[in-house]
Parts: sequence; C-alpha cells; structure tokens
Amino acid sequence: MKKHIVLLPGDGIGTEVMEAAKEVLTTIADEFNHSFSYEVHDIGGVAIDFHGTPLPKQTVEACNNADAVLLGAVGGPKWDQLPSHLRPEKGLLGIRKALDLFANLRPVKSFDHLLHASPLKEELVKGSDLLIVRELTGGLYFGTPSERQQNGQSVVDTLFYTRQEIERIVDKAFQCAQTRRKHLTSVDKANVLESSKLWREIVEEKKQQYPEVTVEHLLVDAAAMKLITNPTQFDVIVTENMFGDILSDEASVLTGSLGMLPSASLREDGVGLYEPVHGSAPDIAGQGKANPIAMILSSAMMLRHSFGLDEEARLIEETVESILNAGFHTADLNMKSGQQIGTVEMTQLIVESI
Ligand code: ATP
Ligand code: MG
Repeated sequence: MKKHIVLLPGDGIGTEVMEAAKEVLTTIADEFNHSFSYEVHDIGGVAIDFHGTPLPKQTVEACNNADAVLLGAVGGPKWDQLPSHLRPEKGLLGIRKALDLFANLRPVKSFDHLLHASPLKEELVKGSDLLIVRELTGGLYFGTPSERQQNGQSVVDTLFYTRQEIERIVDKAFQCAQTRRKHLTSVDKANVLESSKLWREIVEEKKQQYPEVTVEHLLVDAAAMKLITNPTQFDVIVTENMFGDILSDEASVLTGSLGMLPSASLREDGVGLYEPVHGSAPDIAGQGKANPIAMILSSAMMLRHSFGLDEEARLIEETVESILNAGFHTADLNMKSGQQIGTVEMTQLIVESI
C-alpha cells in the first residue's frame, strides 16, 4: 500500500516522540511491504519562529494533500507572552478546523503492568478497554458566538446540532463498535435537552443498520459516575462535543499516565490527524526522557482508521504491551520495579520486537 503522511512534530517533546513514531512506521512498512512517504512541516511555536504564524499556509496545503497527518505537540514557555492570535495552540485549533475533522477518537486501555499508576483501585480499572467517540465540530463550542446581554447581567450560549452532524458521528461510532466488542453506549442528557432527544432518536434509527451491536443509552451524569466506578462495562462511548471533552479527560485517569494515551481526529473521507493526548512537556523536553508510546499508539490508530491496516495496528499495540509486561518503562510511569529507559531505547525495543 502506498501512502503519503505529513509529519508535524511541533514543539518540545513533540519532535522527540515524532522521531520514534516514524521509526516504528518505517519498520512496519518494511515488514508488510508498504510504501510510506513523509513530508515534515512546521506548526505551533516553531512555525511562529520561522514563519511568523503558528499555522503557515504551506502546512495547511500539505495536510490537505496528505493521506494522513501525525502531530507531536505544540507550545511552550517561550511563546506564552505572545498576543492570542500568535499562540502556538492556534495552530492546532486552526489545522483541526481546516481539515474539517468531525470525530475525535480517544481509546483508553489500562495495561496490567501499570494498574498501580491509576489513582483508582487496581481491581476496579483492571481490564478496562474503551473508546470515546466525541463529536468535534458542533454543540456549545460552536454555537452562535456567546453573547453578553443586558449590560453583562445575562449571558447566552447556543447548543446547535443538525441531523446530518449527529448521523455521521453516530455512524462512525457504530463502525468502531463493530470492530471491537460490539457494545455502544450513547451518552446524552435526553431528560432535559432537545438536542439530546434528537441524538437519542438518531441512535435508535441507526442501530437497525448495525444489528450485531448492542446499544445502551446513558445520561451524562450517570456516565460520569460509571466511568470511574465500573469502567469495564464500556466498549465504545459516543457523545456530543462538550460531554465528550469532559468524559475523555475523566477517562484518562484510568491509565494514570498521559504518556500512554493516543488520539485520532477524523474527516468523513477517512483522512485523519493523529496526536498524543499529552502536550509538549517543556519540563522534560530535550532530555531524552519522553515516553514515546502515546505517539506510537497514535500512529497505530492512523494505520487502522485512515489506511484500514488493522493487522499492522494490532501488531504495534501488542508489541507495546509486551514491552511493558517485560518491565521496561520510561520515567513518567513511576514503576516500582523493572527497568527505566529513555525515549530512544524504548523506541529501539519496540522496533526490534516488531
Ligand atoms: P498542554 O497545555 O500542551 O496540554 P500541559 O501543560 O497540559 O500541556 P503536558 O505538556 O502534557 O501538559 O505535560 C504535563 C506533565 O506530564 C508534565 O510534567 C510532562 O513532563 C508530563 N508528560 C507529558 N507527556 C509526557 C510524555 N510523553 N512522557 C513523559 N512525561 C510526559
Ligand atoms: Mg493540557
């Protein structure tokens, strides 16, 4: 298979973990006879330094012509004092919008060897393996701009969704559920919100098309509680923008480490942007300590969701797990035993094992 990938390393540890992901992809391409070509572009702080803007035109153009985009991280103290239109984060928001990414996928899996890293009880998080599918382009964050009324004495935000916007995200979630344990939990607030009533109707309609998937509806308040009291009950969760924002941060505590969490943001035609959930980690940048696993797992998501290479994706995921089970870990994982290694050694172990 021939694919063209744009790499946006960005700032801080972004460049270090991107190097790791590229090595893993090169190994996969060799093993499975694929041809991946790469093109590196600037985004975030580094783009401000070299182009005077966090999102240069040529970066957007390259991403638009790519089969998929991998992004490291943006930002750092060096750019904290700039005016708001010149902040590294604007590059990230800009590229998500420019690519029309409507679905945000965040898998959260607890690894047996890292159970102690979660603040929750080990026996409770053990075995949790879920995927949050969050709508990314609608809802409260994109309503008619919030207004202050009556001299600032009242405010209004608008929660707006079209049927088409809900249908496409629900479809995506059903498709994900089909490739996993075939259970979908739709999260809404249908006892109060009109938008949630339409959401629930559409999920009920759509489930006819996916008869092998079991569907459950949960109110968001109950979902928030169950996520940390009974996380193993979930397979795929689908929800609107703000609920998804909150629930995905909550779910991240199941693993206990930011350095392990990948994410994907997808467009309807399958093009996607893949990035670790963590940021640029300026405190450890340039020290060779960064955990590359979130970025490596993000590239596995790219293989699965943009290229349909499920076997290759699974090989990467299983390899990562086997290395952790063998006791190897980076400094962020705070393990009681085993061997602590750096970014390059971790990458090397994964590459050799593949
Ligand atoms: P952002 O605003 O960009 O999301 P942040 O301030 O929320 O950034 P991160 O940059 O993700 O947070 O870092 C939070 C903490 O987690 C830091 O102490 C950082 O060193 C650590 N951290 C984040 N990612 C990794 C990683 N891949 N490996 C090791 N440590 C990490
Ligand atoms: Mg953050």
